[in-house]
Amino acid sequence: MKIFCIGRNYAEHAKELGNAVPDEPVIFIKPKTALLQGSAPFYYPQFSNELNYEAELVLHICKNGKYISTRNAAKYYNNITVGIDFTARDIQNQLKEKGLPWEKAKAWDNSACIGKWKDINTVTKPINFSLNLNGTQVQKGTSADMIFSFDKIISHISEYFSLNIGDLVFTGTPAGVGECVVADLLTGFLEDEKVFEIEVK
Ligand code: ZN
Repeated sequence: MKIFCIGRNYAEHAKELGNAVPDEPVIFIKPKTALLQGSAPFYYPQFSNELNYEAELVLHICKNGKYISTRNAAKYYNNITVGIDFTARDIQNQLKEKGLPWEKAKAWDNSACIGKWKDINTVTKPINFSLNLNGTQVQKGTSADMIFSFDKIISHISEYFSLNIGDLVFTGTPAGVGECVVADLLTGFLEDEKVFEIEVK
């Protein structure tokens, strides 16, 4: 199982981090060990002093494929949820400055959490989602604001990597990313339904 993540897929978020809006999807990968399993506790990583949440729509791949056209891409994902692409922003900034890869900032154990899956056919389009930090909304997104649609993302990933059943695709975060600290409670919503609740320990 692989976890694909798309960076800078919302113009407002690219702007808030001082990044240019990309002309093709920015892709990075987290290993299987990055997925926070079931109700396992989430611990603040000891190597960081600036942990950021990034709430994102996450797709579940349901069909194996390679060189998938945009037109056929919708057959390759069946379920959707909201997840967090946890980022050690201080580490990422150091790595970016040196032009080094992001894995130490993005791909560490338990840096990817996902909520309860919903059948994508039962979800109203465009798809709205949000994240609360200690009960206050901090991020709010809609798939309508994505620079690259789900289908474009799937097609582009598959030019480089095989997609396999069970792979996950984090589709990028909207504006409003920010810091979280120990004892914070993060709650994710797909439309109005709560799909996860994570306490930072
Ligand atoms: Zn992200």
